[in-house]
This record gives sequence, structure tokens and C-alpha cells, in this order.
Amino acid sequence: MQFPPAGETDGEGRRTMSEIEARLAELEQQGLRRRLRLVSGPQGPRVLLDEAPVLLLCSNNYLGLADHPRVREAAAEAAMRWGVGAGASRLVSGTMTVHRRLEERLAEWEGTEACVLFGSGYLANLGVIGALAGEGDTVYSDELNHASLIDGCRLSRARVVVYRHLDTEHLAWQLHQHENHGRRLIATDAVFSMDGDVAPLTEIVELARAHGARTVVDEAHATGLLGPGGRGAVAAAGLQGEVDVVVGTLSKSLGSYGAYVCASAQMTDYLVNTARSLIFSTAPGPPAVAGALAALDLLQEQPRRVEHLHAAARALREGLATEGFLLAPGEMPIVPVVVGSEEDTMRLCQAALERGVFAQGIRPPTVPTGTSRLRLAAMATHTPAELHQAAHTLGEATRVVGLDPVAMGAVREDRVAHAA
Ligand code: PMP
Repeated sequence: MQFPPAGETDGEGRRTMSEIEARLAELEQQGLRRRLRLVSGPQGPRVLLDEAPVLLLCSNNYLGLADHPRVREAAAEAAMRWGVGAGASRLVSGTMTVHRRLEERLAEWEGTEACVLFGSGYLANLGVIGALAGEGDTVYSDELNHASLIDGCRLSRARVVVYRHLDTEHLAWQLHQHENHGRRLIATDAVFSMDGDVAPLTEIVELARAHGARTVVDEAHATGLLGPGGRGAVAAAGLQGEVDVVVGTLSKSLGSYGAYVCASAQMTDYLVNTARSLIFSTAPGPPAVAGALAALDLLQEQPRRVEHLHAAARALREGLATEGFLLAPGEMPIVPVVVGSEEDTMRLCQAALERGVFAQGIRPPTVPTGTSRLRLAAMATHTPAELHQAAHTLGEATRVVGLDPVAMGAVREDRVAHAA
């Protein structure tokens, strides 16, 4: 089959195959080409990856609930009772008793008046930002925010002001600089997905108050990791009821799929009426919602799961320190081992895989250029011995590919190409 030369488009302006081929080749050459790896069986601490047994060290199934028997049973029962699909968007006929039940439970848990479920965390962030900011408004966004917040900003058509990572002085300065730019919104991850560090929420909420801005906090990696009973970073900071919109996912600690927004009853009412990703997307299916409900029950009945997760995080961090990795200070189960170049990162990922440890290499655009890394994630279901062994394996793999653990681990300022 003949394709036109790279870069040409057909009569209707569609990209031709050859351009796609050229782009794939370019990604390959830049060390940025991805491929999907295949996991057989459930998401446990050990999995079969492309048919080889490995220790799974890059899953967000932090509390080990995705494959918990009670969560599976709840999802299976829900499928029998309510069916698999919700059949329509929330505002048409897709709001079922199981959605309402989980919303009530999550609002109670988060200490807010109300809660509304979305199809996914990505959709929730897109919908929330777009509902709270538009043309003529300003969104202040941490430079390392998750792509879903970034894309929400872009789609909203608001002016986007990026402040330096965790830097509330820079945020304050930016708030002063852009004083008269419509509605104002500050958006931040609570725990940053690729670094595991925690946003200074108390200062952010104070600044928001002082400057008449609203706040959106994405608890995707904070739920189940921080706060009393794993309630999240907002609760850990004693800010329940003080953040305008708390976004959480059902897909990480709660072991399922979907997302929630906790806020005042007026705010959720507003979002139901204006968030396009809720209005124009099918409601999450009953098995996913019921699975998350069972996971929430388990988290509330067994708060020690959160302690197990932290014990696992400590074991992983200790093991890496023993191997000489230079880690950024922190206690979260997300541990970045920053390598730097894309190529070295993928060589290290492959060497670790060959030794039975799966920690996916993370490259731009997920992380800034020059900070490619293995993003390690401990789970409550890993044993400390497994994690010590995994750290040892990573040390060995690092040396085998000719890298030095001492030069890796933390994000060094000189490696970061600031997105701002
Ligand atoms: N926010 C953050 C901080 C995330 O890391 C992710 C997913 N990795 C999302 C939102 C999106 O959530 P979901 O996977 O449910 O779409």
C-alpha cells in the first residue's frame, strides 16, 4: 500500500498515515515511544507481566483493595442486581440507587454537605475546572499538576498562571500580579502523582481566602494515604469544609474506577448543571460503584490498612537508602527514582524487569524533560521483606546498566526544565 509523503494531509484535512508513521519513528528515536504491557490475572502485589512473574511496584492499588474478595463480590453482586452499564448519563437515566448510596457515604466520610460521582478522575478535573473558570477568568496551577488538571485549564479557555511547584510565595506573587482577571481558581494535586510530595494546603487555602479565589484539590493519591483513617490530605490538614471542591478517585486506594467530587450542596448542584464531562458522559457502571463502596467499607472497618501501607513505604525507602539511592525526604509510598534521560530510564526499567521487579519508566510529557524516572509505589499488601529485596534488585539493576544509585533518586533542580 502506498502512502503519501510524511506531513501531507488528504483532501479533507485528515493526517495521512505517513505522518503518523513519521511521528512514531520520531518518538522511537527520542526514546519516548510507549507500548502497552500485558498483566494476566488480578492486580496483586505480584503479577504475571507479559507472561513473566514479577513484583508489581508501580500500581496505584495502594491498599490492595482492587483484588480484595469483598470488593470483587460486591462488584459481582451489583452486576447481577443492577446490570453492568448505567446506560445513560447521570442527568438522563444513569443515576441509580448505588450511585446515590456511594455519594452519601463519601460526603459523610469527607465531611462535606454533598458529593457527586463522575466517570473518572480525568473527567472530574476536566468538568470541575471548566465549570469554575472560563474566558476572562484565571486559574492558578502548580507546575507539576496532573495532566487532567492541566487539560481542564486548557479546555476552560481561562488564563492559566503556572506557579512553581509547592511554592506559595510564587503563588502569592502571581495572585497579586493578576488581580483583576475575572473569577479566580487555584488548582492543585494534594499528593503529587509522580513525586509523592504534599501540597501546602493550609497556605494555599489562606491565600485563596485573602485573594477571593476558589480552591480545587485533587486527592487522587491522598485518599487512603493521608489523614485520619486515610481520609486524605484535606482532612490531614484539618481543612474539611474549607476547600471549595475536593476531587477524589475511586481508581487508586479504592480499588475500582470512577471519581467523586465533594463540596457544598450548592456547588455539587452547580456542577451537575454545568460540568460538561458529567452532563455528556455515561455514568459509571454499577459494579465499579459497588466495588468502591465495598472498598470504602473495608477502609473504615480496617484503618490498619493505611498503617500497613506506611510500613511498606518505610521498608521500600529504607531498602533504597541502603542501596545508596539519594531519595528526596518524604514518607509517602510514591517514591521517585529519578534517572534523568529517557534512554537510561528505560534501560534501568528493563534490567529491573529481567530481575523480576516491575517499575515502569516514566518519561515526558508525564514528567518534565530531564527528570525521567522509575516511579515506585509500595502497596499495603507488599511485605517488608519483598520490598527490601526489590530495593536490592533495583540497586543491582542500576549498577548493571552502568548507573550510580548515589546520583539518582531525588529530583535535582539542575535537571528540571521548569514548565513555567
Ligand atoms: N488526578 C491525578 C493526580 C491522577 O494521578 C490521576 C490518574 N493517574 C487522575 C487525576 C485521573 O484519575 P482517573 O485515572 O480516575 O481518570
